[in-house]
Amino acid sequence: MSVNGTLIQLFHICPREMWLHTHGINMEHTSETVYDGKLLHETSYSQRPEKYTEITLSACFNNIPLTGKIDFYDAKQKIIHETKRSDKAEVAHEWQAKFYIWLLLLNDIPDVQAILEYPKLRTSTTVQLTSYDIQHLTNTITTIQHLQQSDKCPDKIKSKICKSCSYYELCYIEE
Ligand code: SF4
Repeated sequence: MSVNGTLIQLFHICPREMWLHTHGINMEHTSETVYDGKLLHETSYSQRPEKYTEITLSACFNNIPLTGKIDFYDAKQKIIHETKRSDKAEVAHEWQAKFYIWLLLLNDIPDVQAILEYPKLRTSTTVQLTSYDIQHLTNTITTIQHLQQSDKCPDKIKSKICKSCSYYELCYIEE
């Protein structure tokens, strides 16, 4: 099984959410957040300036296949642009962007940075990749691969973010 940017992001929000997603249990249609996010993505996509291109990447690290799809890449400036609805999961967004920068590096494209854009908040954050980050990502993809192969669903995180998660009812309905 491969590891992609979505799994990296989900893992940093909640390993249980990542496990549910990777085991084919999807409830995204019940999530307003995901629906709003898709609308934002589609609106942004239709307005994408010509200087940005969509690229699909793959690499292999420690025998783990890695894949990623970047919707807005400025090849001239070497900048990835990621549009997000809210900054509630900003740390997870940053790790997804760092994963894409790393994927580009593994494809011999160094010195890339990413800009996370939050149009609704009118803010943005610049993301760069450090050697510490690469170490963290190598540990993360190993953990994700173990979770993909495991039948045991990780524990609930009992965080305030659970209330906006599409799996909320699945996790808490019987409590
Ligand atoms: S509701 Fe909370 S514990 Fe359950 S998958 Fe979502 S974030 Fe994780």
